[in-house]
Amino acid sequence: MKHLPIFLSIRHKPCLVVGAGSIAARKIALLLKAGADVSVVAKNIGSEVAELERQGVIRCLVRNYEPADLTGVKLVIAATNVAELNAEISTIAQAQNIPVNVVDNTELCSFLMPSIIDRNPIQIAISTGGASPVLARLIRSKLEASIPSAYGELAKLVDNYRENVKQAFDNVDLRRRFWESVLEGPVAEFALSGRMNDAQKMLGELIQSADPDPEYKGEVYLVGAGPGDPDLLTFKALRLMQKCDVVVYDRLVSEPIMELVRRDAEKIYAGKASANHSISQENINQLLVRLAKQGKRVLRLKGGDPFVFGRGGEEIGELIEENIEFQVVPGITAASGCTTYAGIPLTHRDHSQACIFVTGHRKIDGDDLNWAMLSHANQTVVFYMGLDNVQRICDALKKHGRDENTPAALIEKGTTPAQRVLIGNLNTLPGLVKSNDVRAPTLIVVGEVVGLHDQLSWFKPGNKIL
Ligand code: SAH
Repeated sequence: MKHLPIFLSIRHKPCLVVGAGSIAARKIALLLKAGADVSVVAKNIGSEVAELERQGVIRCLVRNYEPADLTGVKLVIAATNVAELNAEISTIAQAQNIPVNVVDNTELCSFLMPSIIDRNPIQIAISTGGASPVLARLIRSKLEASIPSAYGELAKLVDNYRENVKQAFDNVDLRRRFWESVLEGPVAEFALSGRMNDAQKMLGELIQSADPDPEYKGEVYLVGAGPGDPDLLTFKALRLMQKCDVVVYDRLVSEPIMELVRRDAEKIYAGKASANHSISQENINQLLVRLAKQGKRVLRLKGGDPFVFGRGGEEIGELIEENIEFQVVPGITAASGCTTYAGIPLTHRDHSQACIFVTGHRKIDGDDLNWAMLSHANQTVVFYMGLDNVQRICDALKKHGRDENTPAALIEKGTTPAQRVLIGNLNTLPGLVKSNDVRAPTLIVVGEVVGLHDQLSWFKPGNKIL
């Protein structure tokens, strides 16, 4: 994070703007909205600033800037069109620890002015760290469209009742739950549809009738996070990720996805590298039960789909035994996400009439996999967790009759900016793993459809800026 977003109180504080053109006028308008006591120093006063002076809301000094102008000032904006002067103001202000913003020059700023969505008292500030104010404005216009102006009214209503709710519940968690139910329920619906009187009446009643010591039943959300690209999450996954009190997550869940989990949720890592389990499956099941019994909303976040090589069945089995409420949210499984991003269709009218997902993790030379069936032509076989066994997988398929020239792919870190796709056949695949230092998570895909990769490949991970 390049900057710390904060909201500064400047009400009745002396703030200085040097320059009086139209950009200065926009900054002055914002300072005035936040209640600042604004002075302007400029040799030439533009018409908009002159109008503000005429209204008596700012004070203008029509002369050159002098360093003494900074005395006692709590915030300064340099908006002149003389670069050296802006730089000088920045240097002197920073030496005196006065927050300074120089328009269109991020390097000289000690604070940036964000793009703002104002739903007083709600404020949403957007910054691109100076990289692109235009992009910030585009994001702003999208958010503007999706956040009804009535949210401001709702916030004011809630603000009026904060003290009453504090008295009704002495515990922070209970208060949060109460407000969540209010803000997701009919009170919010009334407020957002403009029925403020009904909203107020209902909120008053809810507070009056609130049970000061309610027993919250915990629940578990078993959620598939997909193979890595956060854009592949489902709406339902995102909603529950934003709602949970605690998240128990896997090694496979990518960092950008974890960024979308409610920021103040407790985060418990239950990573499972196949050789070194940091928490055993047994303990994960018990952990979920224990957290839910504490009344928490527990997000069990898993890579891909929870029911595809995800042990989701075992986890909910335990929840059912313990009578704990749960929901399961499917995710895009690696076989689907990674092959799609690699330009390999799992089935194809001409090349593949079936598709099989197999674990490659087991001691696979035994009888546990039906190699004869897996070795039929014109079907796609996807091996999860197969990297360490790639040689044995290829050998077994050949031994049971699959043509040694059958195309095969390794997809490493599929759907992420680090995705690599290596194409070979049953003879060359093990060598490709070694020569390219392929690491987990990697999917092995065997079948005629892999031959379509050259033609259908579309995702260019290298084009994404990490
Ligand atoms: N439940 C998960 C699978 C868990 S098993 C799902 O539905 O996708 C873990 C295996 O999935 C890894 O060993 C790897 O073979 C595969 N895998 C998961 N994510 C992957 C990714 N982004 N790229 C390549 N393989 C992946």
